[in-house]
Amino acid sequence: MNEFQSLVDLLDLQAVDLQIDRFLHLRQSLPELQEFRVAHARSEQIAVRLAEISDEFKQISLEEDKAEGELELLEQKVHQKELRLFAGGLSARDTDNMRREVESLRNRENSMEDDVLVLLDRREQLETEVEAIKVELESAQSEERRLEAIIGDEWKKLDAEIAKKEVRKQDIVPLIDPDLLELYESLRQHKEGVAIGRLEDGGICGGCHLRLSTAEQQQVLAAELPRCLHCRRILVP
Ligand SMILES: [Zn+2]
Repeated sequence: MNEFQSLVDLLDLQAVDLQIDRFLHLRQSLPELQEFRVAHARSEQIAVRLAEISDEFKQISLEEDKAEGELELLEQKVHQKELRLFAGGLSARDTDNMRREVESLRNRENSMEDDVLVLLDRREQLETEVEAIKVELESAQSEERRLEAIIGDEWKKLDAEIAKKEVRKQDIVPLIDPDLLELYESLRQHKEGVAIGRLEDGGICGGCHLRLSTAEQQQVLAAELPRCLHCRRILVP
């Protein structure tokens, strides 16, 4: 059986490789990964909304500041005209004109005050909205961090397992003929990770589980490297 020792070692290698494959698969299929992607997308959406509402808030704040400034100037103007009227000494006609002017300015002042109130209202509304979105974002980000921590822990455990298997693999690889190893690697790529199987009782291929007839088994075993006639995987008698 010595001539098949390399194949038995290769079977060992495949067992280790399949364990590594399984850990790698587990690494990429943690349910928390999917949850993390959802949470991350949600955070990003909220962040975009926060930026939009913050911009609108800034815009309205500027408009409100501007309107308040204009209102203040108008108030000063009205005040000056009134002082001029209090001082007296104007002709009856000028007095009347100025009185009308003050009245018209007062009307404008009232309408501007209404505008400022509307802006103030909107500004407060947006401020509340910004605060609410910040809270929402904080909660989404903390969910992200929670999932990140779980994934980090799980990956650490899996990576430690993979590292152990890699050490085992390094012990086996030098035992195998390089050409055989190359064939094995290439078969693994095309055969769902399984390159080699035992030839089970009754002539069943351990790789594809199809049966080889007695004549086929003889033909396969006569070859320098036994390979399944159905799936071309390497067979270990
Ligand atoms: Zn087969």
